[in-house]
Amino acid sequence: MSDPFVCARCAAKGPTCCELTPGTEEVCFPVSEYERERILECAPDSGGFALQLNTPVFIENMLRLFPGQRRMVKKLFPPGGTHYRLEVSSGGKCLFLGDEGCILPKKARPLYCRLFPFWTDANGRITLLEVEGCLAQQENRTPGKLFKALGVTQSEVRELHGQLRIAWGIVSHADD
Ligand code: SF4
Repeated sequence: MSDPFVCARCAAKGPTCCELTPGTEEVCFPVSEYERERILECAPDSGGFALQLNTPVFIENMLRLFPGQRRMVKKLFPPGGTHYRLEVSSGGKCLFLGDEGCILPKKARPLYCRLFPFWTDANGRITLLEVEGCLAQQENRTPGKLFKALGVTQSEVRELHGQLRIAWGIVSHADD
């Protein structure tokens, strides 16, 4: 059954998937130039981004998201280079997180946010980014129920993941 308020209920109990534990900012997903431009069109004065060093922890996290694509990940995010991520408050909250959830229109949100908690593996299989404390996952133990609760379809997830890969520059499914 569709549950449009599950994220709001989760946010009320906190912390939400729009918050990081202070000190772990480096593991935040990257925001591509394409995504940044779309966000800035909606929130030009937001200051909601931070330039982040490609640390070993960040690169390891990217390799977990894209296993088998070590060469591509290292080329896009070379050690010592930088990328943009979402800026967070001193308490770890995304600066786009308002009292009633994300202040950005859905279509302008980072693709990772729009996909969450879904992901897609190299074979196109939909997987879950399991996060402790996610009420939607706690209340919907099968992927089918979770799709319904969050009001998304498998084809939408695959489409969004394809858009994310293009935006981030991960253009193939495996290193040559
Ligand atoms: S951009 Fe919006 S959806 Fe994404 S982490 Fe920030 S508040 Fe949450």
